[in-house]
Amino acid sequence: MRKAWLAEAYFLAGLLALALLGGWLFGATGWWLSAALLALLGRHFVQLRKLERWLGRGRQRNPPESWGIWGEVFDDYFRLQKRYYKRKKRLAKVIREFRESTAAMPDGSLVLDGEHRMLWFNSAAERLLCLSSKRDLGQPLANLVRSPTLAAYLEARAYDEPIIIRSPADETRSLSARLIPYGSNQYLALFRDVTKILGLQAMRRDFVANASHELRSPLTVLAGYLESLAEDGPLTEEWREPLQEMQRQTRRMTSLVEDLLELSRLETEDEQAGDQSVAVPAMIRRIFDDSRLQDSSGHDLHLTRCEPVNVLGAENELYSAFSNLVLNAIRYTPAGGRIEVSWWREDDGGASFEVADGGIGIEERHLPFITQRFYRIDSARSRSKGGTGLGLAIVKHVLQRHGARLEVESTPGQGSTFRCRFPADRVVVVSAPPVALS
Ligand code: ADP
Repeated sequence: MRKAWLAEAYFLAGLLALALLGGWLFGATGWWLSAALLALLGRHFVQLRKLERWLGRGRQRNPPESWGIWGEVFDDYFRLQKRYYKRKKRLAKVIREFRESTAAMPDGSLVLDGEHRMLWFNSAAERLLCLSSKRDLGQPLANLVRSPTLAAYLEARAYDEPIIIRSPADETRSLSARLIPYGSNQYLALFRDVTKILGLQAMRRDFVANASHELRSPLTVLAGYLESLAEDGPLTEEWREPLQEMQRQTRRMTSLVEDLLELSRLETEDEQAGDQSVAVPAMIRRIFDDSRLQDSSGHDLHLTRCEPVNVLGAENELYSAFSNLVLNAIRYTPAGGRIEVSWWREDDGGASFEVADGGIGIEERHLPFITQRFYRIDSARSRSKGGTGLGLAIVKHVLQRHGARLEVESTPGQGSTFRCRFPADRVVVVSAPPVALS
């Protein structure tokens, strides 16, 4: 038994013994026992009063002096209180430091509740979003920052990717906005001025587009002269080989310039492609026939499935993406290898375009990178086959603009399957005559 309880037990035993002794000596044991009980009650009453007065006086006062179990209660409570205040102080310090650091941040930071009402924001948010802490706290963010893009972003409740909006403080500046959910139904909203970064990106895009555009005309002239020289130029036999090489290199440069122009056009256009109904089956048939004509190594090409399904989008872009995939299959499949092209409607209402080849395949470690510009697994092979290293980057961009995604499965030495999956809202089922399969 603990010391305090022991003292309490001794006190009770002493009191009882005293009452019994009094009763034995003077008679009326009942009265003596009642008096002892009263003394015990009196002690507890006095201690309770001490406790109540001590608690009433507030925090951190030394506990009242006492002995026995009451002394223990006072000391334990005092210890608990001290621990609680220490923790509270530490938490307050963390919150103060967090607020100081976010207040010093150049990015606008806001704390929002589950309904996107502003609970707190720093001075950068006041500046970037024209807010005032006196006037606007407690208001929904979308009521004060008037942007349809932001309203749709908040509504959609999918916050993985940041969005870009115009700054309410200055129309010429762009802000990237991102919501980070935390705790129980709260959000940290971050607004960053990205005007400079967007400007640099635009400059890079313009530079590539201008340079490619400027290169196009001299290349056309060169290709023209080389062609006339090859056809009826007064050249000796030893010039035949170098001339053919010059033509090959000019063709490569022309494809590179065309692909660069296409990529910068895709990057500068709106995020979403148009919504014309593109007759995909007829387009696939054209791509298939053109590829067969261009295929000098004689592959075993098949169009195995081509369902009457159209896509809402841009025909020239889809043509470019699909033909890039078919040309890649031809490029990376040894002569005579089998290549299957198919287009069908998925059960979920979407549609898929697939090119499956029995070619060299791709090792798994390369798969995450193959859609990056100029990423080639075997540069020499790609160049010798006329690849620019930009084909899959174009495919990725086109699919992004159509809300579609690219899936790649591949086994080295056995072949690859490239599948473009279009969502249901981009797909239209049509009653067109079936396209001939091959
Ligand atoms: P490239 O013009 O070099 O073909 P792409 O962007 O089209 O550039 O493709 C990037 C790389 O991915 C290629 O260099 C090649 O290594 C690999 N690749 C693309 N398609 C296939 C395929 N069907 N089979 C094997 N490798 C492929």
